[in-house]
Amino acid sequence: MNKMVEAIVSRIEQNVVEWRRDFHKYAESAWTEFRTTSIIAQHLEQLGYEIQLGKDILKDEDRMGLPSETELSEHYQRAMNQGAIEKYLPSTKGGFTGVVGILRCGEGPVVGMRFDIDAVDMKESDSADHRPVKEGFASVNDSAMHSCGHDGHAAIGMGVAVVLAELKEQLKGTVKLVFQPAEEGVRGAKAIVGSGILDDVDYMFASHLGSGTPTGILACGRGNFLATDKFDVFFTGAPAHAGGAPQKGNNALLAAATAVVNLYAIPRNSNGATRINIGRFNAGTGRNVIAPSAHLAVETRGQTTELSQYMYNYALRILENAAAMHGCSIKLKAMGGAQSGKSDEKLVQRVYEVAQKSNIFSEIYTEPGRGGGSEDYTYMMTRVQENGGLATFMGIGADLGGWAHHTAEFDIDEAALSKGVQIFSLMALDILG
Ligand SMILES: [Zn+2]
Repeated sequence: MNKMVEAIVSRIEQNVVEWRRDFHKYAESAWTEFRTTSIIAQHLEQLGYEIQLGKDILKDEDRMGLPSETELSEHYQRAMNQGAIEKYLPSTKGGFTGVVGILRCGEGPVVGMRFDIDAVDMKESDSADHRPVKEGFASVNDSAMHSCGHDGHAAIGMGVAVVLAELKEQLKGTVKLVFQPAEEGVRGAKAIVGSGILDDVDYMFASHLGSGTPTGILACGRGNFLATDKFDVFFTGAPAHAGGAPQKGNNALLAAATAVVNLYAIPRNSNGATRINIGRFNAGTGRNVIAPSAHLAVETRGQTTELSQYMYNYALRILENAAAMHGCSIKLKAMGGAQSGKSDEKLVQRVYEVAQKSNIFSEIYTEPGRGGGSEDYTYMMTRVQENGGLATFMGIGADLGGWAHHTAEFDIDEAALSKGVQIFSLMALDILG
C-alpha cells in the first residue's frame, strides 16, 4: 500500500506544488473563495467524485462574519476575471463557497477529511527577496494573501483526491473530502456541520502545515484548542448638542468605554485559562455632538467550551449593563466561533502506527502540544465524536524560513505538501482498505 501511494504521489508531486502556487497567486479570503472552489470542484468531478456545493453543504444562518454584499459581488466578478470555472459558480453566489467531494466505494465506514481553503485579509510583501515574488506567484489580489498555508491545505486535498480515486478498487466505504471556506476568524466550520454533511462520518481528519514545526515532523493529534466567540457589539444612544443640551443625549461612546474597561476586569476562572480582547472601538460623529453610536469588536476564549461560555456570558452582562447606565441599547452580531477540542487517543495512535511504517516523517509525536490558538475544525471533531466516531487534528511540519503565520513574508516549504498527501491517503487506505 505504501509503495502504491508513494508512486502516485511522486508522479503528482509537481502538480500539487503548481496547485498551491495557483491558489497562492489568486488568493481569496473568507466567503469569497469563488475561484478556488470552482477549480477544486472541477478537479473532483473529473476524478469521478460526486460533488456537493452551496446550500447543500452550508447552513445559511450558521455562516459567520460574512463580508458585505458589495464585497461579495465584487469578488465574484473578480473570480470570473481570474479564470474561475463558470459551471460551478452559480451555487457559490452570495458567499456559499467551499465544496465536498464524495467517493463511494461500497459498504464500509465513512472517512471525512477537512481541508481549509481561505486566505487572510492582508497584503503580501512585494520585497524582491520574497520567494513568491521572485518566482512569480505572489498574490495579485491586494486584500488577500495566503499567509497561513491554506493554499497548501487545498493543494494537499486535491492530491489526496487523485490518490484515492486511483486506488478506489482497494477501498471499502465512503470518503468525504471537505474543502472548507472561511477558517480564518473561525467562521466557516459551524455552517458545514449545520448542513448535516458530516453526520455519518466515522473517522475525521484535518491538519495544519507549519505552526512552529519544521518539515519532517508529524504531530499525530494536536489538541488544546481554545474555544472562542467573536462578536461585534453595536451601541445605540441619542445625539445632542454637547454645549447646548448634553443632558438630552444618550452617550454611546461613554457606554462603550465603560464596557471596555469592565470587560478586561472579568475575574479569572480557577477551572482554567481564559482570554478576552477588544480589538477595535469606533464611536461618535463629531466633536460637539454627544456620540449616538459605538462599535466594539470583541473576542472571548476559554480552555474549554464551558470556560469560553463563562467569558461570553459575563461579557454580555457587562455590555448590557454598561449600555443601561447611559440609556443606550446594544445589538450583538456573531462574527465567528469555535469550540475546544481534543483528538481521540485511539485515532492518534493509529496515525502514529501508519506513519511509523512509512518513511515519510523523520520525527513523529503523539503529544497534543501547546494550546493558545483556536480552530473551527473543533465543530467537526465534536460532531463526529458526539455521534460515536473518532477524530484527530494532525500537525504537518513545514519550514517557514523564519517567518510567522499571518505575516507579509510568510511562505511554506513545498516539500511538506507531498508528505501531507501521503499521510492523509495512507490513513484513508488504512481505515477503508
Ligand atoms: Zn490557518
